[in-house]
Amino acid sequence: MNKAAFFDRDGTINVDTGYLFDPDKLRFVPGTPELIRRCNEAGYLVIVVTNQSGIARGMYTEQQMHQLHKVMNRRLQAEYGAHIDAFYFCPHLPEITGECNCRKPKPGLFLRAMADFDIDPRVSLSFGDSLRDEEATHAAGIPHFQRIVHEASE
Ligand SMILES: [Mg+2]
Ligand SMILES: [Zn+2]
Repeated sequence: MNKAAFFDRDGTINVDTGYLFDPDKLRFVPGTPELIRRCNEAGYLVIVVTNQSGIARGMYTEQQMHQLHKVMNRRLQAEYGAHIDAFYFCPHLPEITGECNCRKPKPGLFLRAMADFDIDPRVSLSFGDSLRDEEATHAAGIPHFQRIVHEASE
């Protein structure tokens, strides 16, 4: 089995500017790219698990989100020698699309990734900036959660 380091996206990897999709507005949370690189070097699969209700809200398309993720990974590689192995996202919002099993604090994104990559939750790590990240992590059976604290600098 494999081990993974799961990362929330907004407020954990990128500065949370609110429904980010414009690659030109992408700024990294200080320290996180280096943390991703250390996880790469230590043999963890680095997997992003992110709620993207902006898609349900019609603020941006899946296509635009994928483009942002492409730029994010390209910049991580070029500027920090780091990389993300996979992105899992929830495009839903219960009020608009109905209930789903993937919007954190539900563990669906983690469970899907763990099945796809044969990941052992007990030796995996999870990083996030919110309580719902922590709740989803533990619901997925991953004991190790680390809060990323970033002073909003807007
Ligand atoms: Mg967040
Ligand atoms: Zn969902």
